[in-house]
This record gives sequence, structure tokens and C-alpha cells, in this order.
Amino acid sequence: VEARARRAIRELPDELISQIAAGEVVERPASVVRELVDNALDAGARQIQVKLMAGGVRSIVVEDDGCGIPAEQLPLALKRHATSKIASLTDLESVATMGFRGEALAAIASVSEMLLASRAEGAAHAHRIDARSGELQAAARARGTSVEVRELFFSTPARRKFLKTDATELAHCVEAVRRHALARPDVGFAIWHEGKLVDQWRAASSEQRLSDVLGADFITESRAFEHSAGPLAVSGRAGLPEAARSRADMQYVYVNGRYVRDKLIAHAVRSAYEDVLHGQRQPCYVLFIEIDPERVDVNVHPTKIEVRFRDGREVHQRVRHAFVDALASSRSSAAEPAVT
Ligand code: ADP
Ligand code: MG
Repeated sequence: VEARARRAIRELPDELISQIAAGEVVERPASVVRELVDNALDAGARQIQVKLMAGGVRSIVVEDDGCGIPAEQLPLALKRHATSKIASLTDLESVATMGFRGEALAAIASVSEMLLASRAEGAAHAHRIDARSGELQAAARARGTSVEVRELFFSTPARRKFLKTDATELAHCVEAVRRHALARPDVGFAIWHEGKLVDQWRAASSEQRLSDVLGADFITESRAFEHSAGPLAVSGRAGLPEAARSRADMQYVYVNGRYVRDKLIAHAVRSAYEDVLHGQRQPCYVLFIEIDPERVDVNVHPTKIEVRFRDGREVHQRVRHAFVDALASSRSSAAEPAVT
């Protein structure tokens, strides 16, 4: 093997930096849907529409009725590390928004054709910007924001090759919206594919939303729990052992409203089912953890799907107890009505 000639160190061009960063955040259309819905929720939207073509590969449009972006800030919204959500490290410790890294729009725009249209509160009209050309134009729309993402990965064929069939990508997109919908029953969601309504959830109570998204059977086949002490509150529904499935596809965990995957929490739940669930059966559950933001680090992974707890042991114990309690109450009062 021939030694390679050393090349000079060079700074990467901005566009390439964004494309590399996009690799971490944007894996498939569903990642785009997740980021855009995060932004809509951060903007205070009451109603969010997700419109997809060809499983989201051809186009993804997310429309909201949130606070909007003032015309003069539209170019900034597309810049890397530009955010309205934090201004200092102290802000990061108490961050209550889904976003804070200021990189999603820039990352997505670097691997797609993006159009951003918005009308801010009190603005006389809307404006739209083409991410590629930077061209800003007047547009027509009510208060709120629409983001259109076309031809994802058109410029990065290596990435595009990893996409699955449209049906599979669509399923992932729908799942991304379901995850948001479970945590935000106060917000209405609708998903369209090729002009047809796929799913729609109107603003509802928390219990009703769980039933709408996961099915009425999940409510009858699970028990609610709610425990709060000090800086930590856990609530949700524990699926009964007889409702367990062969796949772990009905397990939803949220920390301060953010959907997460966490080994420690998964282990805590699993251990609560130890005596009642055998073999490879997977419990169904929805778990909401509310914790003092200073006790959890959400800046662990670019997609923010991982968190780190300051006191993991306490979280583990509290989660385990909540599930053990819920499951025990279901055995001692089998005739109890499901909805309480
Ligand atoms: P982040 O969400 O981490 O701040 P993004 O790249 O996702 O970074 O968005 C950049 C900025 O653009 C946000 O901080 C916000 O000010 C603005 N923005 C993006 N989407 C919306 C939206 N749907 N409504 C209002 N403002 C938005
Ligand atoms: Mg964001």
C-alpha cells in the first residue's frame, strides 16, 4: 500500500459543513418531519398539518399557525447555529423548547430544496424565502409558518440509496407525528399523503388522545399511574401483561415532553414487568417524566433522542415503582373500570 501524500489543512466550505452536520440530524424523511413539527410546537402552534408526497422523499410540507417569523429574520432562520430559543449556557440548563441548537433548518436545507414561508404576528403580509437562492418575496398566508422540503438527498446520492420504499418511509413519518401527538393532546394534527388524509387527531384530553392515537384497546388493556414528589413526576399508562406484544413497537417515553430512548428507563420498566411477563413478550406503555430541567442534560445527541439524568438511580426507582404499583392495582381489582 502506497503512503498517501499529505494534503494541506484547509477549512471546509460552509455548504459542506452543513451537509456533514445534516448526516447526524437528517437520516430519512421522518427526521425532517420530526424537526419541523418540533419547530411548529416551539412556535406555539395549535394546529399542525403534515403533507407528504412519495413517502416524504419527493416532498414534505409542514404548516402551522404559530407565532411566525418576521420577514427580516427569514434568512437568519436558515443559518447554521442561529436560534431564537437560547442565548447563553444558562438558558441551555433550563431549556423548555424542543429546539435550541439552531441547526435543523440549515441541515435540512443543505440536503434538499427548501422553501420557507411565514407570517409573523401583526405582520401586514407573509414572506417566503428560497433556501438555495436566498431570494425573498412577498407571499400570501395566514399567521404561521410553512416549510416545504423537496427532493431530500437529491445532492447526496449515497444517502438517498439508504432510503426504503415510499410505504416504509411514510410509516416512519406517521410514527414521528404520533410521537408528538401523544405528548401534545392540546394540539391538533393532520397527516396527508398524496393528497389523501392518512390520520387526524383533534385537540383532546390526554386520555382521549392516547385512545385516538394508540387505539381504544390500549386504554382498556392498560392502567393509569401518576406519582409526583420533589423535582420528579411520572405519569402514564402501563399496559397489562396480557396486552404485551411480540415487538417493542408500543413503548413511548417522554422527558419534559420530548420523546426519548433511554436504556435506564427501559430497564426500569422491564424490571417492573419481570414477574408478570415472560420470554420475549414486550409490554406496551406510555410514560411521561417531568423533571427539573437542571437535573437532565438534553444536549447529548444531535437528534436529542438521548438524555442524561443527574440522578439516574432515583429516576430508575421512581419509574419502576410507578409501573409495579399500576400492575399490582390491576391484579387486586380486575373489575375496576379502565378509565378513571
Ligand atoms: P432551533 O429549533 O434549534 O432553534 P431550527 O434550525 O430548527 O433551530 O430553527 C431556527 C429558528 O427558526 C428557530 O429558532 C425559530 O426562531 C425559527 N423557526 C423555525 N421554524 C419555525 C416555525 N415553524 N415557526 C416559527 N419560527 C420558526
Ligand atoms: Mg428546531
